[in-house]
Amino acid sequence: MPRLWEQHCCPPLLPTADMGELGRYPLGSYLSINIGYAPHSAADARALAEQFRRDALADGRFRMVSGAEDAWPEPGADTVDDTSVLAFDLEDSNPLDGDLDNVDVFHELGLRSLLPTYNTRNAAGCGCLDTEDTGLTAYGRDLIGVLNEVGVFADGSHCSVRTGLDIARVSTVPMIYSHSNFAALHAHPRNITDDQARACAETGGVIGINGVGIFLGHNAPDEGAERVRAMADHIAYGAELVGIEHIGIGSDYSFDADEFNAMLADSPESFSEEYTRYGQLQWTPPEDFLGESGFPGLNQVLAERGFSDADRAAVFGGNFARVARKVWH
Ligand SMILES: [Zn+2]
Repeated sequence: MPRLWEQHCCPPLLPTADMGELGRYPLGSYLSINIGYAPHSAADARALAEQFRRDALADGRFRMVSGAEDAWPEPGADTVDDTSVLAFDLEDSNPLDGDLDNVDVFHELGLRSLLPTYNTRNAAGCGCLDTEDTGLTAYGRDLIGVLNEVGVFADGSHCSVRTGLDIARVSTVPMIYSHSNFAALHAHPRNITDDQARACAETGGVIGINGVGIFLGHNAPDEGAERVRAMADHIAYGAELVGIEHIGIGSDYSFDADEFNAMLADSPESFSEEYTRYGQLQWTPPEDFLGESGFPGLNQVLAERGFSDADRAAVFGGNFARVARKVWH
């Protein structure tokens, strides 16, 4: 399996989350982990970031992100391949407490990706579950400017269509969709339109394909193999639509699916019936993380469909690494 750049995965958002679970990923991976979303304050997200840093560094198998070169060393470089690189991402701008100086504070702690709006409208713009879509606000446009300036990915996942298109228009560097599949293949408000994908690619950005059952159309617990094949379908569709150099992976893997499903049940204002009518959400890769229904299985399916070694290396990580070299500084 090629070296992996995981652009979004989810530990439980609790100080007791076990960072050792990230050791399920192959050493040498780049892992962007979530530290907060819409209901969290700056203090909440900061406390989680500090706790996660301490625990991950104490574990010994991880190092915190610094620059793009260290996160994804070129082949043959003097690499540290016995550790994985950790970075943080925020889903929603609410954890900035309305203060754009907090982007820099979180960047110091390891933040490298932020999406302005998680599902529903906030100070920055509209989310993918809003019925009225007015895109980014003036504050949201300022936020994108600060993300560009500090060197943090501006991420359109969970945003409304127009917010996503506005990010592409406002950002002066490549934007990303960290974990979004294609609405043309499976209709769901969390999946993006072809226009959004094209606008992202035109910035030079990358779309990370996720493995969440309800966004892939295969949410039964025993459909792990179907979810992997559906991820491959979305990768192939994206490659055809915008070019393979604009497709990556942000699996959205939840390390404690029960905890996530409980959060989903407890926070109806954040999720809506578009999520909850399916019952318990299922993820790929599931328990078989490093087997047939996990990342190696996805690699195998892509190889069988004719994706070359170079194509698969680009999708598994090279593409996001290229964007990081342009956006981080
Ligand atoms: Zn998400």
